[in-house]
Amino acid sequence: MRIAKRIGHITQGRADGWEIYYRTRDMVAAGERVLNLTIGEHDIRTDPAILKAMHDSAMAGNTGYAFGPGKPALREAIAARAERLTGVPTSWRNVVVTPGGQAALFAAHMALLDAGDRALFCDPYYATYPGTIRATGAVAVPVPTRPEDAFAPAEAKIAACAPGARTFLVNTPNNPTGTVYSRATLQGIARAATLHDLWLISDEVYDSQVWDGRHLSPRALPGMAERTVVVGSMSKSHAMTGSRLGWVIAPEPVAEAITTLATNTTYGVPAFIQDAALYSLTLGAEFEARIAEPFRRRREIALVRLAGRNALRAVPPQGAMYLMLDIRATGLTGTAFAEALLAEEGIAVMPGESFGAAAAGHVRVAMTIPDTAFDEAISRLAAFAERRARG
Ligand code: PMP
Repeated sequence: MRIAKRIGHITQGRADGWEIYYRTRDMVAAGERVLNLTIGEHDIRTDPAILKAMHDSAMAGNTGYAFGPGKPALREAIAARAERLTGVPTSWRNVVVTPGGQAALFAAHMALLDAGDRALFCDPYYATYPGTIRATGAVAVPVPTRPEDAFAPAEAKIAACAPGARTFLVNTPNNPTGTVYSRATLQGIARAATLHDLWLISDEVYDSQVWDGRHLSPRALPGMAERTVVVGSMSKSHAMTGSRLGWVIAPEPVAEAITTLATNTTYGVPAFIQDAALYSLTLGAEFEARIAEPFRRRREIALVRLAGRNALRAVPPQGAMYLMLDIRATGLTGTAFAEALLAEEGIAVMPGESFGAAAAGHVRVAMTIPDTAFDEAISRLAAFAERRARG
C-alpha cells in the first residue's frame, strides 16, 4: 500500500511550523495556565442570531444537496459587498461560494495553474500558502520581503521572481505581519502582474479589519479586474470560522472553471450555511465593525505597552488580528524567543520563522484573548524581552 507522492510533496517532509501551538494545546489540556496568543480565531463565538438563521433554514428543509456555485441570492449579496467596498462593478456570475477561504485559495490555484507552473507568493506568508500551491502540482516560489519595508513586496523583487510564473498570491490586510498594502505597493504589484502576464490571486479575508488607512483591493486598480481573483470569507469578518463559508470573485471564465472543480470536489456548501451567510451579510458593515472592534482595542493596548521599549519593536499594525514584533535586539531567533517565553512565562506566540525566512527574528502575536489577559501578556512579554536584551 502506498500514499500518493502528492501528499508528501505538500509538506516536503517538513514540520508544519505549528509546534508551539500544539505544545500550548497540550499544556492547556493538562491544566496549565497559558496566555495563548498563537491562534487567529476570535475569542467570541458565532452570533446567536446567525445560528438561529442557520437552524431555521435547516428546519425549513434546506438539508439536501446544494450543488453548484452557490445560491444566486448569496452570490448577489457577496457581489454587492465587493462592489460597496471596492467600487468595482461585480455580477453574481463573478462569484463562486466555497467551503471557506482555504478552499477558495485552493480552487483559485487549481483553476489557474498546470503541473510544473511557477506560482509566486510573498514571504512571510499565511502558513498554508506553499502547501496549497504544491497541492496543485505547481512549484511554490517565495517573493522575499524585508522588515525595513514593513514586509510589503518591492516591485524589483517581484520582477526578479516573475519570469515564467503564472500566478502571484498577495494578502492585504496581511497575516502574519498586520500590514495593509499602500496604493503605491499595490500599483507596483499591478505593474509587475501586467508586465509579466500574471494572474493575481488576492486574499482579502481580513478586509473588515483595518485600523490605519483603508483597505484597497488590487482588483480595483485600472485593468486589474480581468486578471485578479479575489479570495474572501465569512470566517474573520463575521466570526464564522467553523461555518466554512468563503468565496472567489473572478472573471466569468475563471468562475465557471472553479464551478467545474467544485462539482468534482466539494459538491457545494450546505444550503443552511449559505442561508446563515446571507442573513449575516444583511447585518451590514456595522456588524462587521462590531466583530472587528476587540482587535482595534487590543492593538491600542499593545501600542501603549510597547511604547519606549528598546528590546522589541512592532511592525506598524495596520490591520488584521495580529501584531508582528521585531525581537532581534534580544539576540534570539523568533523560535528561541517563543520557546523561552512559553517555558518561563507561560505565554505562547508564534515564531516568525513559522511564516517564512523573511520573518526570522520576529514573533507573531494574535490579539485573540480578552483585553485584561492580553494587557498582562503584552506587558510580561515586553519585560521578558527587555531582560533578554540586557543579557
Ligand atoms: N487566508 C488567510 C490570510 C488566513 O489567515 C486564513 C485563516 N487563518 C485563511 C485565508 C483561511 O480562512 P478560512 O478558510 O477560515 O476562510
